[in-house]
Amino acid sequence: MSSQETPRATGAFQINMDHQWLPFTANRHFKQDPRVFVAADGMHFTTHDGRKVVDGISSLWCVGAGHNRQPIAQAIKKQLDTLDYATAFQVSNDQAFEAAQMIADLCPGDLNKVLFCNSGSEAADTSLKVALAYHRARGEGHRHVFIGREKGYHGVNFGGMSVGGLPANRKVYGAQLLPRVDHMRFIHDPVNHAYIHNQEPVWQEDPLLELEGRILALHDPSNVAAIIVEPVAGSAGWYLPPKGYLKRLREICDKHRILLIFDEVITGFGRMGTNFGADYYGVVPDMLNFAKCVTNGVIPLGGVVCRDFIYDAMMNAGAPDYAVEFFHGYTYSGHPVSCAAAIATLKLLKEEKLFARAGEMSPVLGDAMHNAFKGLPNVIGIRSLGLAGAVELAPIPGAPGKRAYDIFLDCFHKGVLVRSAGENLVLCPPYIVEKEHIDQMVNTLADSIRKHA
Ligand code: PLP
Repeated sequence: MSSQETPRATGAFQINMDHQWLPFTANRHFKQDPRVFVAADGMHFTTHDGRKVVDGISSLWCVGAGHNRQPIAQAIKKQLDTLDYATAFQVSNDQAFEAAQMIADLCPGDLNKVLFCNSGSEAADTSLKVALAYHRARGEGHRHVFIGREKGYHGVNFGGMSVGGLPANRKVYGAQLLPRVDHMRFIHDPVNHAYIHNQEPVWQEDPLLELEGRILALHDPSNVAAIIVEPVAGSAGWYLPPKGYLKRLREICDKHRILLIFDEVITGFGRMGTNFGADYYGVVPDMLNFAKCVTNGVIPLGGVVCRDFIYDAMMNAGAPDYAVEFFHGYTYSGHPVSCAAAIATLKLLKEEKLFARAGEMSPVLGDAMHNAFKGLPNVIGIRSLGLAGAVELAPIPGAPGKRAYDIFLDCFHKGVLVRSAGENLVLCPPYIVEKEHIDQMVNTLADSIRKHA
């Protein structure tokens, strides 16, 4: 610590905030108004200054089963005392196989082969690399084009950022994004479907006409390796696909032998009241990316689940048995402690029937949001489906995102953690949420929307 670095008083104890560069955070503002958690249990955090804050966003979609779940903590402790770590290359560990089997069992169709990684961003890049390697293995190595969607989010690594469509995440890196990438149009209709109340919006027009008519025609479908979408656009602010959209996307991909990747980092493991978004929408992708919720947030783990034919093509590409089939992997792929946490989490979610509970609480949340927010100043849309919802506000002219950010801060100080995403405020509580928590979240948010009119 240099002589200029001064520990700051932040309530009950002192924290030196000079060294952590905070991710996706307004660092300068944070230091004027620190928001530091020191403990969590069930639905609540405790802050550094001893206040309780209700977790309205499952700590960014991760903590489905609520905080401080002892079966998960105990499984991690036990695993640390048994096999703390083993390299993942050319050897493996028992926990990774068991976790892979449990995940494959939850997946629809023949999504059976799990490639582990450590985050949603790594899952995105892994899935794009699988797509290229798969096509090459079956003699179509010219398929290089990836297609994402405007406002899609697939993490922050170069592949995911390139197929992603959030302008703020891309603009600084534009010159070095992947070259052969295109984007489908966004799936929001602010005129006819600004308000979506616990049901799939039915569009009169087909939003995928431009995919076949323009994008695929431009690149030629025979050059396209994969299309990647989030079943519901989560990070952008909970934007829901029109009814039939994902089925139609599946048909288009089948017709042109393009791989369909669902990025289920947010929609996976119960958020829609089903195992995955794929189950909710009745569409089986060729790859399914997961991360959040699989360990209840307590330790990093992500992965890509591939359909059998992808794995088979890679195994049967004609190389000798001793050859590595896919030159890809992370030092911590299938880490035994993360996988032990995943096993315990998936058991807990099953024992407590928490996916079903998310489904049951979904209309409770959606109804509360629509009742509380409709007609409030600046509200221009409300969208609810699954155990999540967003209220969209008119921006302050010349200050994009500021209104939502100010409301997020205000709610935090009133004891509710909400998420600001662009002009949206998002609620996506843990599946253990009770009606009283929902009322607290929604009433606090409504007061704050009024206050910031
Ligand atoms: N993909 C989706 C759909 C996400 O929502 C996220 C994170 O919010 C990611 C990828 C990136 O995950 P991570 O932050 O674990 O890298």
